[in-house]
Amino acid sequence: MKATVSTEWLSGCSGCHVALVDLHEKLFGLLDDMEIVRSPVLVDQKTYPKANVGIVEGAVRSEHDLEALHKIRGSVDVLVAYGTCAVYGGPSGVGWLYRKDDVFDAVYERGPTNAGGERPDSGVPSLEESVRPIDEYVPVDLYLPGCPPHPFFVAAGLHNLLDSSKPGLTHRSVCADCNRKMQKRAGVQLVPAAVVGDDPDLCFLSQGIICLGSVSLNRCLAPCPKIGVACTGCAGPSLDVLTDPNRDTRTELAERMEKLCGIPRKDTVSYLEMNANTFFAYAMASPTIYKKPTVEIREWAGPSQAATS
Ligand code: SF4
Ligand code: SF4
Ligand code: SF4
Repeated sequence: MKATVSTEWLSGCSGCHVALVDLHEKLFGLLDDMEIVRSPVLVDQKTYPKANVGIVEGAVRSEHDLEALHKIRGSVDVLVAYGTCAVYGGPSGVGWLYRKDDVFDAVYERGPTNAGGERPDSGVPSLEESVRPIDEYVPVDLYLPGCPPHPFFVAAGLHNLLDSSKPGLTHRSVCADCNRKMQKRAGVQLVPAAVVGDDPDLCFLSQGIICLGSVSLNRCLAPCPKIGVACTGCAGPSLDVLTDPNRDTRTELAERMEKLCGIPRKDTVSYLEMNANTFFAYAMASPTIYKKPTVEIREWAGPSQAATS
């Protein structure tokens, strides 16, 4: 019998649902095993029919998101947090840095497109106090981060969820699929604000350029370093960073840069703190990250920093 699948789309950009459609032939393989009974982009179904698997894109930002999340959770046997927004808050998780009223003031009173300063007080769902990953509200059975996750991992994760005899997901870092070589080098300086390097075969870290590949979970097959751009960690942290409370993106990279090219740890640490909005962009709204004893994201990237920068 086919497994039934229901999907929902909360506060996200729709990219994760587009990636679902983008599964192409892999989707056809999956469709042999499953029937999609609800999906905002694939099926015209407004209610929440019972289903075996629920797939949720996006973070919880509004009252509507929360209601929809509870409805889909109540209608399915197992739930997948699909994409970095659902798993960690994702790019919209930057709202976690600000109070709800500050966001309204910035958009509806000081924003360039709303000179009248009117807030949308009726006819739209109200905002929650902050942006939160979905497991802050409901139990999650499978986490599939990625912005969006690569179809390869979506297909593998769903196959394994539907049939546990199929191989599960690996937990390697992006470096596992990157062809660049890490090399010890002397006399390398930290290169600020760089995302491309001179040597196409050499690891960015060995060139003094911050690449988050070694501290990011591989749910993408490393497309960025393969085309010459340093990884910004859109799939969220690697398992090492997630599971050890005393390790974070900053401390891990500082250690690696010092060992590879002698850049003092404090230089890398302070560069990453000054640019925390970039280097913690995808997972800052997740308590797994902001509750780490080593992490002070509001101090590094919060409103007082924005006001002075
Ligand atoms: S994870 Fe990325 S692609 Fe998916 S909804 Fe969020 S921003 Fe869009
Ligand atoms: S740190 Fe970046 S460039 Fe270096 S091996 Fe890992 S993904 Fe590739
Ligand atoms: S290489 Fe890094 S930034 Fe690029 S898709 Fe993968 S995780 Fe995201």
